[in-house]
Amino acid sequence: MTTRIAATAHLEEALERDRADPLSACREQFHIPLTATGKPQSYFCGHSLGLQPRSTATLIDEELQAWKTQGVAGHFTGPRPWLSYHELMTPTLADLCGALPIEVVAMNSLSVNLQLLLISFYRPTPQRHRILIEASAFASDRYAVSAQLKLHGYDPAQALVELSPRPGEDLLRTEDLLSVIEREGHSIATILLPGVQYLTGQLFDMQRITRIAQQHDCTIGFDLAHAIGNVPLQLHDWNVDFAVWCSYKYLNSGPGAIGGAFVHERHAQNQQLPRLAGWWGHDKKTRFSMPHDYSPLPGAEGWQLSNPSVFACAPLLSSLDIFRKAGLQALRSKSVQLTTYMYSLLQEYSPQISIITPADPQQRGCQLSLRLPMTHTESKLIHEQLINQGMICDWREPDIIRVAPTPLYNTFEDVWKLVQALQGLLK
Ligand SMILES: *Cc1c(COP(=O)(O)O)cnc(C)c1O
Repeated sequence: MTTRIAATAHLEEALERDRADPLSACREQFHIPLTATGKPQSYFCGHSLGLQPRSTATLIDEELQAWKTQGVAGHFTGPRPWLSYHELMTPTLADLCGALPIEVVAMNSLSVNLQLLLISFYRPTPQRHRILIEASAFASDRYAVSAQLKLHGYDPAQALVELSPRPGEDLLRTEDLLSVIEREGHSIATILLPGVQYLTGQLFDMQRITRIAQQHDCTIGFDLAHAIGNVPLQLHDWNVDFAVWCSYKYLNSGPGAIGGAFVHERHAQNQQLPRLAGWWGHDKKTRFSMPHDYSPLPGAEGWQLSNPSVFACAPLLSSLDIFRKAGLQALRSKSVQLTTYMYSLLQEYSPQISIITPADPQQRGCQLSLRLPMTHTESKLIHEQLINQGMICDWREPDIIRVAPTPLYNTFEDVWKLVQALQGLLK
């Protein structure tokens, strides 16, 4: 009875917070999928695939129309000529990254961009050829650095340094990470870390790590798949060498949407950096006169190879417009409130669940990673039942349920519902 009264009071509070939310109108700019009974899902999978903005179909359709009616002329005519279409994304991407426009570009997909930038920033010597990553790195990142090691003739079994949390812990402690760099830095060529860890939701202290890495002359790059559009970034001021991201997670740009890359301004004019080349990275002034010698564009654009798919860019453009209008600071502020609310309700209603994501909002984005106090089979069953109840979250082996309330389209009521559903299922 008492928990019932408390739950009702909490629902009132959640609804009140939704009414007071200055960003509540953002939700209306998205298609929210419906449950089997026709109610909006409580969608907590923005960490995996963000929802579709309502404006996306219009922007794609405009380019289909341009192609239909203009043919090849669409490269140069219309409100958004295809030749420079990707540049429309640059200002907002720069804002989201804390970067100068010359430092960012929308291109390819994350793993491709990672390989392109490792070719330039992993420059091993016999004395210094190791790469540092975290032991629970996303598989694609491990494949990418291992492939780079092999390309240079090194054996990943020796040359890949993988950092694990302390025994019995889930999170990497910054001090442990820094002390490995202090101790081993002289033999490490490149460090690759996540901005936000995909499994635990931990937000890395990119500024401090970068400073220590550079004191030891290591190049450093970040995989921002779970960070961009989720947490504020200051890549330029932090002096990060390079970064890559995809835009179908918190950037809501649809499956396989165009990814992006950051290269710090201090590398912008460095034509000596080895790199792969293609005509889209070549100087725009002479691109179409097809000179024999390659002259890369200054900045991140100089790592482009091909002309990008306009149909993969249009969804990102529509989504970035929503970010631009809402403002990342305001979004982050709501995000901290939403996730803190979820954290405290979970502790109150289901204290037996362990939340492996850091409790400190400054050390996480919006995602919470939950471990249930039961067997693998039972936990997976709970996850399935959550889905059946319209609470969309995901399961990650071996035993993690990832839940991400995003400030653009989630509500405090969504959070309340999820916590109630979980509590009911755990009984
Ligand atoms: C989602 C994700 C990727 C995806 O890579 P693609 O090249 O876009 O398929 C890569 N790394 C991390 C950490 C991710 O979370």
